[in-house]
Amino acid sequence: MRGLMMDVPLTVRMLLDRAEALFGDREIVSRRPNRSVHRTDLGTVVGRSRRLAAALQGLGIERGDRVATLAWNHHQHLEAYLGVPSMGAVLHTLNLRLHPDDLLYIINHAGDRVLLVDEVLLPLLASIPDLESKTKVEHIVVMSQAETSIDDARPRADGYLDYEQMLAAAPADFEAPAIDELDAATMCYTSGTTGRPKGVVYSHRSTLLHALAVSLPDSLAIGEHTVCLPVVPMFHVNAWGLPYACTMAGAKQVFPGPHMDAASICELLASERVTLTGGVPTIWMGILEHLDGGEPGYDLSAIEMMAVGGAAVPEAVIAAFEQRHGLRVVHAWGMTETSPLGTVSNLGPRHAELSADEVMSLRSRQGRMVPLVEVRARSDDGAVPWDASTMGELEVRGPCVAGAYYDDDSQADRFTEDGWFRTGDIVTIDPEGYIRIEDRSKDVIKSGGEWISSIALENAIMAHPSVEEAAVIPVAHPRWQERPLAVIVPASAEPAIEIDELREFLAPHFASWWLPDAVEAVEEIPRTSTGKFLKSALRERFRDYELTDS
Ligand code: AMP
Repeated sequence: MRGLMMDVPLTVRMLLDRAEALFGDREIVSRRPNRSVHRTDLGTVVGRSRRLAAALQGLGIERGDRVATLAWNHHQHLEAYLGVPSMGAVLHTLNLRLHPDDLLYIINHAGDRVLLVDEVLLPLLASIPDLESKTKVEHIVVMSQAETSIDDARPRADGYLDYEQMLAAAPADFEAPAIDELDAATMCYTSGTTGRPKGVVYSHRSTLLHALAVSLPDSLAIGEHTVCLPVVPMFHVNAWGLPYACTMAGAKQVFPGPHMDAASICELLASERVTLTGGVPTIWMGILEHLDGGEPGYDLSAIEMMAVGGAAVPEAVIAAFEQRHGLRVVHAWGMTETSPLGTVSNLGPRHAELSADEVMSLRSRQGRMVPLVEVRARSDDGAVPWDASTMGELEVRGPCVAGAYYDDDSQADRFTEDGWFRTGDIVTIDPEGYIRIEDRSKDVIKSGGEWISSIALENAIMAHPSVEEAAVIPVAHPRWQERPLAVIVPASAEPAIEIDELREFLAPHFASWWLPDAVEAVEEIPRTSTGKFLKSALRERFRDYELTDS
């Protein structure tokens, strides 16, 4: 027997209609490149996103065509998030931190026809080799955040289209094509540390389901009362889906533009009374240092949640925010391939009895799967038990998880025969389902046939006062195949820590065979375009590192 509910497609267009009907007056705030603050409302953004859709149709863009953005977080980018998919085209957000050669590859691979670019990013655009001769890009549209209005937009001297002028000239609405909920809505490329970037294509359905899952009270708790500042860029996994979730819920949205330094973010968090913000650990570590500096005493009392994900956040950082600044950091895990939210580390009512240390230890885990995501972990011996200690590779499944990469059959081994996605993350899962990411499968240290989690060591080492940052990598060992080498950045004005002191510091927390064999000080840990440690570069640098047999 079939269910008798309506078969109404879940499409991004639903978000536009709902936002316009219910939340037209919600504020949308963006920091401009000149640091001034631009204010508009959701109704205006939705109206302009319809004009954008109409203008793109005027340029000949049709259902399924790719429209790329090269842009920071701001209201015009939100207009593209809403307008491009709602007319059936596919929004392709380009990661502006990638190398120009990678950008060229991605633009080509995706087959982008239109490119919306921030005026302040035109130098980056110019650095992409042979953009106009070697790609299918037909139109470049410049989004200027100068303090002009739609009425006084002028043609550009460089021959590119002007976004404001294009909107001014466009009809106020567009001919909406029929959209299947499984049609592509947006696409992002993974910022892989090895190999070519891989394209993940989100459907309308997955985008809406993900927006619902993100908003739930035990996920990121987004509602009409929320004031959300996504520090996570809109060019990386759709800013964790926050723009869609916030538009759906009618939350106020605050965008930092190109000003991502700790002082600028803290100013906006305070002045806009932000309740929810999200970003990678590097951002929060910078903000922690800034707040610890004490000046100028921001009022951050409105903040209910600082979500952190994209890389592991050390327990010491969660504790420092809480104890020194009364701020709640919530750990989450996800991937480009999972839309991205996979797990969130929120506590349940049964945890009221736990000691402060136990609570902190649980919160430093990456958390439990959000609704619509199924998880399992497997090793060579099959499924691993949820016993908090057996490591296995995390596999996920769900309607917001990638089932394939775009036009790339070199990755078939990432998808299992029984329909799961292999994340490449090595995890343990505790009996309550709280996951801890122990490592990337290629970073885990394989010592004498057993696995050592580089992330666990890094987090513990970073709690040492004389260490600013730490990455732990495997180096070859004559007897154990691999042993851990700790690569550290000493805290300013501190001498680099010696190996004996480091081992003594770590000894209470780890089995003795986990302790690093050596420590090396460096000026900085290389990072990927999205702020993760680039361990492949460190492994390369210390490839011939000699450890003695011990
Ligand atoms: P990306 O697709 O660029 O967002 O990268 C996804 C990868 O980032 C995951 O497979 C993890 O290896 C890593 N990652 C994301 N969130 C976390 C987290 N909270 N802790 C540790 N690693 C994380």
